[in-house]
Amino acid sequence: MIVRQVVNSVFKSCSYLMIQDGDTWMVDCGDMDRLLPLVEGRLRGVLLTHAHFDHIYGLNTLMALFPSVPVLTNEAGYEGLLSDKLNFSRYYGDPFVLDDPGNVRLVQDGEEVELFDGVTARAVYTPGHSPGCVTWIADDAVFTGDSYIPGVKTVANVPHSNKELAALSEAVIRDLARDLNIYPGHASEL
Ligand SMILES: [Zn+2]
Repeated sequence: MIVRQVVNSVFKSCSYLMIQDGDTWMVDCGDMDRLLPLVEGRLRGVLLTHAHFDHIYGLNTLMALFPSVPVLTNEAGYEGLLSDKLNFSRYYGDPFVLDDPGNVRLVQDGEEVELFDGVTARAVYTPGHSPGCVTWIADDAVFTGDSYIPGVKTVANVPHSNKELAALSEAVIRDLARDLNIYPGHASEL
């Protein structure tokens, strides 16, 4: 499995593409004009680390291009997709609400999702930064979103965040990610 990183224009959030068997899975969705040229074969789905707007703002463009692509998140993430207040976009002058929630698929904590032949992604709930945070572990890759950015203090002072949970989740991720590659939700120079 190959992992490609795209650093987006909004807050240098990072989206990723996982490529294997000639097809692609996406992790978080920012600048579609940067992501689209890197998609190989069929876009099989999108995994969301959480529904803050800087990680989801490309989704309406994406779903217009790929109307049947599933978008995987948890219940709290789903709520964020549908509320420009919960996803913070209304405070940044560019309100975002998912146009068509019909393709959203809710995952449970610990659920395994088949990505490619022999490769699954495990959803690990890592609340704290936001209630909808999910860390995804696929092959030797760990997509942490904003739950753990090496060298950066986890943001837990925004609405609906929780410092204690954020610290617990960070400890869980550090433990799980030992010997694996961490792909965080922002470029480290942020
Ligand atoms: Zn965030």
